Amino acid sequence: MSRIVMKFGGTSVAGIPEIENAARKVVAEVARGHQVAVVVSAMAGVTNQLVEYCARISPLHDVREYDAVVSSGENVTAGLMALALQKAGVSARSWQGWQIPLRTDEVHSKARIEAIETDELEKRFAGGEVAVIAGFQGITPRNRISTLGRGGSDTTAVAVAAAIKAQRCDIYTDVNGVYTTDPRIVPQARKLEKISYEEMLEMASLGAKVLMTRSVEMAMKMNVPVQVLSTFEEPIGSDFPGTLVTREEDIVEQHVVNGVAFSRDEAKVTLLDLPDTPGIAGQVFGPLSEANINVDMIVQNVSADGKKTDMTFTIRRADLPRALGVLGKIEALKKTEIRSDDKVAKVSVVGIGMQSHAGVAQTMFRALGEKGINIQVISTSEIKISVLIDEAYTELAIRALHAAYRLEEKLSA
Ligand code: ADP
Ligand code: ASP
Ligand code: MG
Repeated sequence: MSRIVMKFGGTSVAGIPEIENAARKVVAEVARGHQVAVVVSAMAGVTNQLVEYCARISPLHDVREYDAVVSSGENVTAGLMALALQKAGVSARSWQGWQIPLRTDEVHSKARIEAIETDELEKRFAGGEVAVIAGFQGITPRNRISTLGRGGSDTTAVAVAAAIKAQRCDIYTDVNGVYTTDPRIVPQARKLEKISYEEMLEMASLGAKVLMTRSVEMAMKMNVPVQVLSTFEEPIGSDFPGTLVTREEDIVEQHVVNGVAFSRDEAKVTLLDLPDTPGIAGQVFGPLSEANINVDMIVQNVSADGKKTDMTFTIRRADLPRALGVLGKIEALKKTEIRSDDKVAKVSVVGIGMQSHAGVAQTMFRALGEKGINIQVISTSEIKISVLIDEAYTELAIRALHAAYRLEEKLSA
């Protein structure tokens, strides 16, 4: 008998008919003889609403109470899913994070999972009961409710799969797999049968929200096979209709570039006439990191006169006002002009194959140039190239790159 985790995202549990539809999938897996843990998100739109309620009371709210509020959406769906399963004749009960318990650190609103106790779950699996677990939430060492960050139910699902040694973690969502890019933007996007953990990790961290980055990180570390598949199509996970996220060795067919990802959650800061002296980067980035502001892309120009230089870097859009506040207080920048732009987007191409192929960057730059899209900043790693562009051209850039790397075509190795 094998064991699987089935995770249903917000649109998959958006209302009672959807919950009953998802429950039918669980029943079908149970009928195939599997032990099942179900992980549910809040109903579509509920978490956004709860986040907004907190913000309306105060933008500077106590994050522990924020977690108490925003975690509650998942409590509702866990209970409803258990009821739907019971109605379908399957023994089931709901579990909130603290009841398991699923233990996290104390970093409220983006907590990390530290341990999951499985004794009670194990006993109940043995008795044929399905565990319906509220995703996205846990409990801190101080006995407070924590949440794992937006999209965190994916991470709950993978962590539960690792803890109960499940054979597979199926992520049911509103698309039927991982595509070469967001199929809502490029209708020609191609569904991938398999994708390596490394590429999925880059795609997720560069903006493809189909899986939360941390869930992919954990799947890779714990060697959990993850399948992304549709809640609204007929086949169930055990028929392998979706995209399998797995080890690179298990993938036969490879493009040089396998995907295009994008993020509009970007802002650019430029420091003009910065003193070109040793230690200046530390004086700029030290205070930003102390304020918990992550810096992503960085470019510094060669100084023309040896005294002054220009520097540009990117941060998350929501962090821009705070970042400008921090920079405004740095003594060494007193004579520096600080410019910012929050109408920028990052577009990236990802592929393990680029490690061993030349000309990948050139294809990207040519494709963007032909469309008249100006590249503002470039950053690369072994398996990705990212560019920062004017936000207005995001979709044009994604389509141009998808075509330039012929991602709509299924090539053989
Ligand atoms: P859920 O609520 O089920 O967690 P999400 O909205 O978080 O679902 O993730 C699914 C969405 O991810 C899809 O609707 C799709 O628009 C988006 N997406 C972005 N990039 C990709 C990609 N490369 N492949 C598939 N979906 C993608
Ligand atoms: N409900 C949470 C969110 O919307 C967690 C999740 O759905 O994964 O971010
Ligand atoms: Mg999601």
